[in-house]
Amino acid sequence: MTVFDKDTSAYWMPFTPNRAFKKNPRIIESAAGMYYTTKDGQQILDGCAGLWCVNAGHGNDKINGAIKSQVDKMTYSPAFQAGHSLAFEFAERLAQLFPGDLNHAFFTNSGSESVDTALKIARAYQKARGKPEKIKLIGREKGYHGVNFGGLSVGGIMPNRQAFGPLLSEVDHLPHTHDLSKNAFSEGQPTHGADKAERLLDLIALHGAHTIAAVIVEPMAGSAGVLVPPVGYLERLREICSAHDILLIFDEVITAFGRLGDSCAAARFNVQPDLITTAKGLTNGAVPMGAVMVSDRVHEAMMTGPENMIELFHGYTYSGHPLACAAGIATLDVYGQEDLFGRARDLAPYWQKAIHSLKRHDAVIDVRNIGLVGAIELQPREDKAGERAFEAYLKAFDAGLLIRTTADIIALSPPLIISEEQIDFITNTLDDILATIQ
Ligand code: PLP
Repeated sequence: MTVFDKDTSAYWMPFTPNRAFKKNPRIIESAAGMYYTTKDGQQILDGCAGLWCVNAGHGNDKINGAIKSQVDKMTYSPAFQAGHSLAFEFAERLAQLFPGDLNHAFFTNSGSESVDTALKIARAYQKARGKPEKIKLIGREKGYHGVNFGGLSVGGIMPNRQAFGPLLSEVDHLPHTHDLSKNAFSEGQPTHGADKAERLLDLIALHGAHTIAAVIVEPMAGSAGVLVPPVGYLERLREICSAHDILLIFDEVITAFGRLGDSCAAARFNVQPDLITTAKGLTNGAVPMGAVMVSDRVHEAMMTGPENMIELFHGYTYSGHPLACAAGIATLDVYGQEDLFGRARDLAPYWQKAIHSLKRHDAVIDVRNIGLVGAIELQPREDKAGERAFEAYLKAFDAGLLIRTTADIIALSPPLIISEEQIDFITNTLDDILATIQ
């Protein structure tokens, strides 16, 4: 048990059972490369890249150096009606990185803000092109799009929503694609489930395409427990959206910047959305930042009206913050110089074999993976959902491994700098732990 001498009562921790945590706090003091060091001096291998964000590993010298030199130059410049050169440079770099004509970046400070920004842009776009009745937003069951009101409304994780209603009303949801009866232990994309995209046609029949602004999905759902898109599913969503004049938004807060072995899921699956939301790996988690990538078509439709009028009445004090831009540009340099997206792609077969070895345990009802992401789903205990996986979480932490759990799903998403030996450490540690969990 950690001896922690600070009063813990003032800090209301996010997405944490505060009272239980504070009885036995897990306090991290520093981080470098693949490892955290706790207050007690224990090394913890980071099996989740922080919260899916530290793709280049902790404390990268180049990223830290860029932030430090920007601190001495300028830590803030106003985001409205003035600009600084790093924001333009970073937007340009992102436009080059993302596929197709996603050539415009709107900067935010988080994934949640990116999602709400994208939903607002979708509605504003429809209005700007003379279709003000196209306002409905279609999300998906089990979707996680952050915690602000727009993202919660299109999101599909019940506990995140239930205390905060009423949410946006002009919203509907597609069914999720998680189907263990057909797809358990899939390696890479599951084969069954593309037909779930057809349900969009039912929603169109119900509401009318003339009322629908956009569909938003995570191309690979992360927070719900790594739900890999079935073969053909995203392609079919794209076809239906195009045929019915509906924008397609990919929420790539997790999947962009190498997680799937490519710049983003749109590139990995070769499906072109109209907008992409990002955050997390955008700055390697070093400075909070998000960005919405916007296609030429959507951007051009907004760049109308008198030239001296604001085109989008939206933005944040810290949009394009200088420290975040410095971190982001250096992060893209590191991803490129170290070929981390290629590294994730090359390591994916090793990773797949390693984590699928865990299927030998009775409690394991599914193992799934893509790129450098994996999930191990455990049979929930009767009337005690989540308990089994959380027991694994605590045991893993004690054994020097950070994992992430959602209900009874263990999610793994290590920094892309991980070695094969460190992958073995993850699977051997979990193998030992799962053997003790009844
Ligand atoms: N969208 C997706 C797909 C996410 O996974 C997350 C966070 O995990 C968010 C949005 C919200 O991001 P943030 O926590 O930075 O607001």
